[in-house]
Amino acid sequence: MHSQDTAELIFEDCRVPKENLLGEEGKGFTYLMEKLQQERLVVAICAQTASEDMLADTIEYVKGREAFGKSVSQFQNTQFKIAEMATEIKMGRAFLDQLIAKHMAGEQVVTEVSMAKWRLTETARKISIECMQLHGGYGYMEEYKIARRYRDVPVASIYAGTNEIMKKIIAKNLGL
Ligand SMILES: Cc1cc2nc3c(=O)[nH]c(=O)nc-3n(C[C@H](O)[C@H](O)[C@H](O)COP(=O)(O)OP(=O)(O)OC[C@H]3O[C@@H](n4cnc5c(N)ncnc54)[C@H](O)[C@@H]3O)c2cc1C
Repeated sequence: MHSQDTAELIFEDCRVPKENLLGEEGKGFTYLMEKLQQERLVVAICAQTASEDMLADTIEYVKGREAFGKSVSQFQNTQFKIAEMATEIKMGRAFLDQLIAKHMAGEQVVTEVSMAKWRLTETARKISIECMQLHGGYGYMEEYKIARRYRDVPVASIYAGTNEIMKKIIAKNLGL
């Protein structure tokens, strides 16, 4: 992610003054765990909005680009790809919206948030590939937003807990 630096922080022999303590001593890990649902929900929201943005951008692009004497949007393959992505995105939005409402109401939705996190980041990853393909060569050029999306979107399957870990949580909460 070129817009965001990633670095390792080391706190060896680091002394923190008492007045700077946040919360209670020894409870840091618990505080962190309590916020994981929210962090994963935010990642799911980012993935969903990235998918929506990529689709809107690609629809605009294929309408304007001409090949073999007609707009790229007139090829059936383009239309089918767009229709498939639009369907996935609409379904993702419906699931996500009701999850946000539940989270705002203070409900514990750990299992559903894990479902949204893996599924919506995976969908965004696939959509970044399809949308770049529909842009042709321009899609690989830094001047086009889809190139950045193609590079930045996949990491969402890794951070905030990998998608494999999301599936472990879901399976465990299903009693497996
Ligand atoms: C750009 C970026 C930003 C990040 N930002 C932050 C941040 O702000 N704060 C922070 O704390 N962390 C951050 N991370 C770290 C991120 O959360 C970890 O990279 C992530 O949790 C995966 O851990 P790992 O890299 O050690 O992978 P590993 O644990 O080494 O995993 C390697 C592979 O093995 C799989 N695997 C591991 N354990 C299991 C298992 N039990 N069952 C099945 N499969 C398994 C994983 O899913 C993965 O596919 C960031 C990472 C990146 C790349």
